[in-house]
Amino acid sequence: MTKYVFVTGGVVSSIGKGVMAASLGMLLEARGFKIAIMKLDPYINVDPGTMNPFEHGEVFVTDDGAETDLDLGHYERFTTCTLSQKSNATTGGIYNAVIQKERRGEYLGKTVQVIPHITDEIKSRIRSLTADQEEEVDIVIIEIGGTVGDIESLPFLEALRQFRLEIGPPNCCFCHVTLVPYIEAAGELKTKPTQHSVRSLRDIGIQPNVIVCRTGTQTLSDNERHKIAMFCDVMDDAIISAEDTSPFYAIPLNFKNQKLDETVLNLFGIDPPESDLSDWIAMVDRLNKVDKTLRIAAVGKYIDHDDAYKSINEAFDHAGIVNDCSIDLQWIDSERFEKGEDPADVLADFDGVLVGPGFGSRGIEGKIRAVQHARESKLPFFGICLGMQIACLELARNLLGLKNANSTEFDPETPDPIISLLTEQKGIKDMGGTMRLGAYRCELQENTRARAAYGKDVISERHRHRYEFNNAYLEAMQKDAGMVVSGWHPKGDHNLVEIVELADHPWFCAAQFHPEFKSTPLKPQPLFKDFVAAALAHQEARG
Ligand code: GLN
Repeated sequence: MTKYVFVTGGVVSSIGKGVMAASLGMLLEARGFKIAIMKLDPYINVDPGTMNPFEHGEVFVTDDGAETDLDLGHYERFTTCTLSQKSNATTGGIYNAVIQKERRGEYLGKTVQVIPHITDEIKSRIRSLTADQEEEVDIVIIEIGGTVGDIESLPFLEALRQFRLEIGPPNCCFCHVTLVPYIEAAGELKTKPTQHSVRSLRDIGIQPNVIVCRTGTQTLSDNERHKIAMFCDVMDDAIISAEDTSPFYAIPLNFKNQKLDETVLNLFGIDPPESDLSDWIAMVDRLNKVDKTLRIAAVGKYIDHDDAYKSINEAFDHAGIVNDCSIDLQWIDSERFEKGEDPADVLADFDGVLVGPGFGSRGIEGKIRAVQHARESKLPFFGICLGMQIACLELARNLLGLKNANSTEFDPETPDPIISLLTEQKGIKDMGGTMRLGAYRCELQENTRARAAYGKDVISERHRHRYEFNNAYLEAMQKDAGMVVSGWHPKGDHNLVEIVELADHPWFCAAQFHPEFKSTPLKPQPLFKDFVAAALAHQEARG
């Protein structure tokens, strides 16, 4: 019988519920269990695709094209699960489904209410996660976004309370991730906010089985552990001290040392089988031994949200591990190059340049200047999605002499639309879920950098864009600008340019897809890995 672990949050948000859920998944997989994992988000957006990443953090994209919460990125990086549309449900999506059923008359004249109709829909989403899995899932982990006590979370928590009763209490485990702040003046960790938060959870009828305490730089003492256990009615060894852990990928090992996975399995009445974490431990050891630092400039819009490009940051870390270096990724506001600063000065101390994904026209001209500098000065350059489109504009303007070449996203009237709307995007009015999304086949060309990096002919990578390279300019770009198309998406009579590169450059490569979404610490993404290797070579040559 499938077991369920529910991960709730207490006191404040952003304390690492997602990483905790992902870590538990990883530890359970290491013991040979088949797991599934999902996130329930209490906001009203149908999905996070329409949310500003500078406010909410990155939109993570799955193989099947779901635009999801960035916590799903943690799930895929820590576990072997491939997530899907079913792996993330929001209040908006759930109400949407219920309202559509109501319009179709499926409720047979009943008054449609939060309980039971919304809670039923939530429970059916949880059940449907495992419904069509070929192999039986042993343990499902479900993270609930937000914080206990929020108005928005109530229907979700009520649904979980009912779910527990329906499948039998021994098949459910509630893990509550909470903040235990350190009060400098008193010189101690304070457990009171945790007690209050557990009380709120109990008011709704949920008693946590495990409490994961975020303690900042402190570690819970046995006394504090016991105090929380007593007040919250949880066994001492089910109180986990989750202090800030470095490196980030050592977090599951901290949980393992405190037997989090064993505690959960014991609650389910399962004898914990042997655990094999050798690959993960080897990866963390290698990470700990890194002694070089690479400086990469990420040229883009000004950002003040650390998580806006979460997967890119992580993919660089993964590529660093296999190249035995750490990556100091510094965000450079591209508008600086529009206000007179010279990329040659600003980028002088960097070993590589990234132009990443983005939307809207702000800072575009500055990005083009940064690419031009990277190309001319033979500085390794990596473009992702918008970054590829920018690279094409740079080549068209400066090597083909098409001075006003542009993307129709930024200048609908441009005389040279090097980048234009995908044919299937024409006429689309709704913004939510309508981009070219998810994994597509990409065929790599012989004797190219991309083919060498991947070591195979056919790859599959994830997309999230509306614009494409305009094939009307293909011949000129290949002949007169030296652009090599190293990856194509075959599409009958209209092949899509997926990767472009330059042959006479140490490393100039840009992809229309988002390679960052498939990178994991145990399987670094090939283009990131190769780019980092090239940037290291550049650093060494510089001396
Ligand atoms: N704005 C561009 C497009 O829609 C690029 C999108 C992106 O970088 N994800 O095609």
